[in-house]
Amino acid sequence: MDSETFALLRDTVRRFVDERLIPNEDRVEDEDAVPEEIIAEMRELGLFGLSIPEQYGGLGLTMAEEAQLIFELGRTAFAFRSVIGTTVGIGSQGIVMSGTEAQKRDWLPRLASGELLASFALTEPHAGSDAASIRTAAARDGDVYRINGNKRFITNAPRAGVFTLMARSEKDVPGAKGISAFIVPADTPGISFGRPDRKMGQRGAISCDVNFDDVVVPAANIIGGEPGRGFVTAMQVLDRGRIHLSALATGMSHRLLGMSVRYAAERQQFGQAIGTFQLVQGLLADSRVDAYASSTMVADVARRYDAGEQVSADVAATKYFTSEAVGRVADRAVQVHGGAGYMREYKVERFYRDVRLLRIYEGTSQIQQTIIARSLLRDAGLTT
Ligand SMILES: Cc1cc2nc3c(=O)[nH]c(=O)nc-3n(C[C@H](O)[C@H](O)[C@H](O)COP(=O)(O)OP(=O)(O)OC[C@H]3O[C@@H](n4cnc5c(N)ncnc54)[C@H](O)[C@@H]3O)c2cc1C
Repeated sequence: MDSETFALLRDTVRRFVDERLIPNEDRVEDEDAVPEEIIAEMRELGLFGLSIPEQYGGLGLTMAEEAQLIFELGRTAFAFRSVIGTTVGIGSQGIVMSGTEAQKRDWLPRLASGELLASFALTEPHAGSDAASIRTAAARDGDVYRINGNKRFITNAPRAGVFTLMARSEKDVPGAKGISAFIVPADTPGISFGRPDRKMGQRGAISCDVNFDDVVVPAANIIGGEPGRGFVTAMQVLDRGRIHLSALATGMSHRLLGMSVRYAAERQQFGQAIGTFQLVQGLLADSRVDAYASSTMVADVARRYDAGEQVSADVAATKYFTSEAVGRVADRAVQVHGGAGYMREYKVERFYRDVRLLRIYEGTSQIQQTIIARSLLRDAGLTT
């Protein structure tokens, strides 16, 4: 996208966040749902197609451009971004990155328009961080596969039109190499859903268990057409997804910092604004450092990702830093607000709960540390 068109789009999204999403945050919290009219507006803005190439109906943004828009969406309640998140990111990118031409033509235009939502189904009751140990089985039966298994915590599952599903297709090949990525239409018989997860925060964002009971999909639905490549696809998808989440965390850090500064300037104690106390200034300054460092890391890693550099370890570093940073920023924001920060009326309490998830999904902080350290040791000639 040329820079002028992109600047217009970014301004439009910024206005949408300020004028439509932020004013509806409390409603999302109260109703535990994103209003349908907001989802319709997201469709009109093209937000479901940010990362899908233009030839398939999307906006075809670079990672650096996508990160700027997700930063904007990070300035409001988590649930809004969550509606588009899996379709822009982990749900569709397997098809974008590794799909056959027919698969791209079949699915991407409907995902880009928001007609269908995509979900990404990797995690299972027994397989979280150790994703290569998934047990969901895809057994070949002529021209089809029969899929049986259970997936856990799947974001947007009840709204999804299609799943990118990781299943073990090569039963005699243990670990990562036995896994394939399947495109599974959500209306295929044999798919059922658990009750919506009752979460610590992020009201309005939906996740639940998804059960696959003898679900039949054509062999042609293996992403890329070649079995045994699903885990590689999943890791590539997660690399990109982690930049997206880092941008989200960064947007939240900036919003929380803005709320903290405003409160520090307004709230009076001992006859003066609390922002004049150096101990409060220390909280604000530390949050600014976290927010600024997060912005800088996201911009750098997204640019290098776009340039085709091998940046997985720095993506992990960015996801690790920005998600931990927003946790610190949220904690300080509650502190700056004092007792009010503990009350539902002030939004910092909600962000404090909402951002906790960022350190857990798409790879916990410990998994990011592992990726970073392994890369360092590999570069030093030590294979781990
Ligand atoms: C709200 C929500 C939405 C989600 N959405 C999706 C989705 O759409 N699709 C999907 O597939 N998954 C999704 N997930 C799953 C998420 O990615 C996993 O929860 C996450 O990867 C962690 O796995 P786990 O919960 O099994 O924790 P575990 O892997 O059991 O980890 C427990 C603890 O052990 C630590 N640990 C594990 N292994 C190591 C190690 N090797 N070294 C050091 N520490 C380790 C972890 O860091 C963590 O602290 C979602 C989760 C939540 C909560």
